[in-house]
Amino acid sequence: MSGPRSHAAGPGAEEAPPGQLRGRRAFVSLGSNLGDRARYLRAARDALDALPATRVLATSRVYETAPQEREDQGAFLNQVVCLETGLQPPALLRECQRIEREHGRVRTLRFGPRTLDIDILLFEGEQSGDPELTLPHPRMVKRAFVLVPLAEVWSWARGMPDLDIAGLGRAAAREQDVTPYDATEE
Ligand code: AMP
Repeated sequence: MSGPRSHAAGPGAEEAPPGQLRGRRAFVSLGSNLGDRARYLRAARDALDALPATRVLATSRVYETAPQEREDQGAFLNQVVCLETGLQPPALLRECQRIEREHGRVRTLRFGPRTLDIDILLFEGEQSGDPELTLPHPRMVKRAFVLVPLAEVWSWARGMPDLDIAGLGRAAAREQDVTPYDATEE
């Protein structure tokens, strides 16, 4: 994967200029550390783009990170995407969980290995302390593997809390290595 991209509309589809788009923006993080990790990320991006009233506006580069909370597992690939969606946050969460299930994720150990993990980081105009869907995502501000890719697509932010994502990312990256990954390797 090269740098951040703008959404490429499909054949014959017209891409609306940003001012005319409907729906709200959301940043979503993708992670995988089992199997063909790059393929799982690609499948997640395609599945998100195919959701009703939803499209992927921008994708960060893919990064490789050593596991954090549990070290007895393989390295993760991580990526952040910016969506525009007409779905409400709980519906988007349900769809993310369905996509995880369809790609073989079995919830066993907390912070354990997984084929695909999808978290909603931020959703335009939404803040919530609900444990089912906490917004912003409660652990994002310490995680270099989230903040570094998020900073790459942060120019797409709209209606988000006033956070210095690039500064937080630089601070977190001093504690944790995140390495750009060439997704053609696997
Ligand atoms: P995980 O195993 O890390 O994917 O966590 C999944 C659990 O976190 C689910 O029970 C979700 O309801 C809950 N959760 C709370 N806030 C969020 C969020 N912002 N994005 C995704 N899952 C969330």
